[in-house]
Amino acid sequence: MTRRIPLIAGNWKMNGLTADSIALARAVAAGAAEGCELLVCPPAVLIPPVAEALAGSPCMLGAQDCHFESAGAHTGDIAAVMLADAGCSHVILGHSERRADHGEDDDLVRAKTAAAHAAGLVAIVCVGETLAERDAGRTLERISAQLEGSLPSDVTPGNTVIAYEPVWAIGSGRTATPEDVAEVHAHIRGRVASKFSPGIGDGLRILYGGSMKPSNAEALLAIDGVDGGLIGGASLHAEDFLAIAASCP
Ligand code: PEP
Repeated sequence: MTRRIPLIAGNWKMNGLTADSIALARAVAAGAAEGCELLVCPPAVLIPPVAEALAGSPCMLGAQDCHFESAGAHTGDIAAVMLADAGCSHVILGHSERRADHGEDDDLVRAKTAAAHAAGLVAIVCVGETLAERDAGRTLERISAQLEGSLPSDVTPGNTVIAYEPVWAIGSGRTATPEDVAEVHAHIRGRVASKFSPGIGDGLRILYGGSMKPSNAEALLAIDGVDGGLIGGASLHAEDFLAIAASCP
């Protein structure tokens, strides 16, 4: 079986100004240790100063979104190739906040994911059910539909990471139970393998996201099939983010 190196990814969302973001990036870079990969995803405008702050460190740099075209008349948007040019290696796509705030659907996420791949970026594709869907017993059905719609045909373990983020667990302080997380991660791995090729599931990294913090990270990261975390709130504090990274098995 392939050893999947855990990935601890920080989604800074719409937080930070230049000085505090540089300080945060420097603190994360200084604490980066072996055992897992670290990634920070600042707001787009802060990518250049954060890239400079991370220079020479193993901590990687990512973005929170991209457009599906490589150039053109798309006011306010940023192409995947521009992110690569600015030093990014990853981009988060289909986050539930973008799906909700900007009406992004699976077709759009699939086009963006293909654009990220074409630009040489690793796409972190987010899927997750709402509380209503979970309560209705529709979690796996919802995840299957999102995977089917959001992943382009060129997915490999090298160019794509899946983040399972139950929408109701994001920023809420609530986390899914270990049994639920294990069930959904196994389901994702199986679906991706059956959609693409049986071998792909083995190397595919699947992150858990939703209120991960130092106090629950060890338990969440120990769950079978969890290959790291996508972390929002706790990634804004270097100490917390690094403590989560130190919890990787
Ligand atoms: C996220 O937004 O990806 C996330 C997991 O946020 P939080 O850790 O704050 O729940």
